[in-house]
Amino acid sequence: MLYSRSYEYGKDISLTRLSRSERGNHKKIEDTTQPIDILQLSPAELRAFRWSEISIVFQSAMNSLNPVMNIGTQIMDALQTHRPDMGPDSRKQRALELLKLVGINADRLRSYPHELSGGMRQRAVIAIALALNPDLIIMDEPTTALDVVVQREILNLVSALCKEFNTALIFITHDLSLLLELADNIAIMYAGKVVEKTTSKELHNHPRHPYSYGLLHSFPSLHGPRSRMTGIPGSPPDLRDLPPGCAFHPRCPLAFHPCNTVVPALLSPNVDHPGQVVACHLYDSRFSEEPPDTSVLAEKYEALLERSRM
Ligand code: SF4
Repeated sequence: MLYSRSYEYGKDISLTRLSRSERGNHKKIEDTTQPIDILQLSPAELRAFRWSEISIVFQSAMNSLNPVMNIGTQIMDALQTHRPDMGPDSRKQRALELLKLVGINADRLRSYPHELSGGMRQRAVIAIALALNPDLIIMDEPTTALDVVVQREILNLVSALCKEFNTALIFITHDLSLLLELADNIAIMYAGKVVEKTTSKELHNHPRHPYSYGLLHSFPSLHGPRSRMTGIPGSPPDLRDLPPGCAFHPRCPLAFHPCNTVVPALLSPNVDHPGQVVACHLYDSRFSEEPPDTSVLAEKYEALLERSRM
């Protein structure tokens, strides 16, 4: 289980703090047997922990790979650091195995990053992330810079590999339709805070937070019938100067009296789905007698769309 002060920061900062790639306050990372306080790890322990327990794939593979080392050397470098008992032949064998896993031909072992396409570079970074079979891989917009065909290939690959090796994946993206296909659970963040967290299925069928609903209707679905996109009016707030109360209130079509003064708490609105939590006054019995269902959110967004067309 992962604990961090993630609700107080943006998604990228939350995740880099989770891996202690960035300075700040951190809490514990626990597995079922032994908690690990990453703040207390020495540099040597942290170095050993990072790649074997948690690995990260960033958005731009070109920025993650060393441009003056071929990809084989970069994979073997991770193995040499973390598995010093492995001989050169075994490291090379493992590097070839990893390239095969991510669909790169063995003859590319000696290729430099600039000799590979964008998709191949991202595959190479995924191969390095998988090298030590970590328990968790964090992927931060790993396919944003790629075209949709390569994006689909990479996602299928990641999904299959995580299942095969029983690896958990935290996938950060703005593309909610893609996430609905890939993820078991989704946390939606707005202005650096989680505003809704639930299963993908529940989010897809019954988004509770007005921002989640707006997001879901800002992207066309990958499958299914065409539908009109409503979008979300306005722009995200300046994180240095957040609006008082609910940070989403200036853009929310359902904002009401407490929204511009009281910060909403994360509450569980649904007894059938106790794992689902929402930070919105519409689901807080102190301010709202009857929580709205999805059709009410749809009506309000439709009305907003109509008004914007007038
Ligand atoms: S708390 Fe108010 S402004 Fe914020 S999302 Fe809920 S209804 Fe909208």
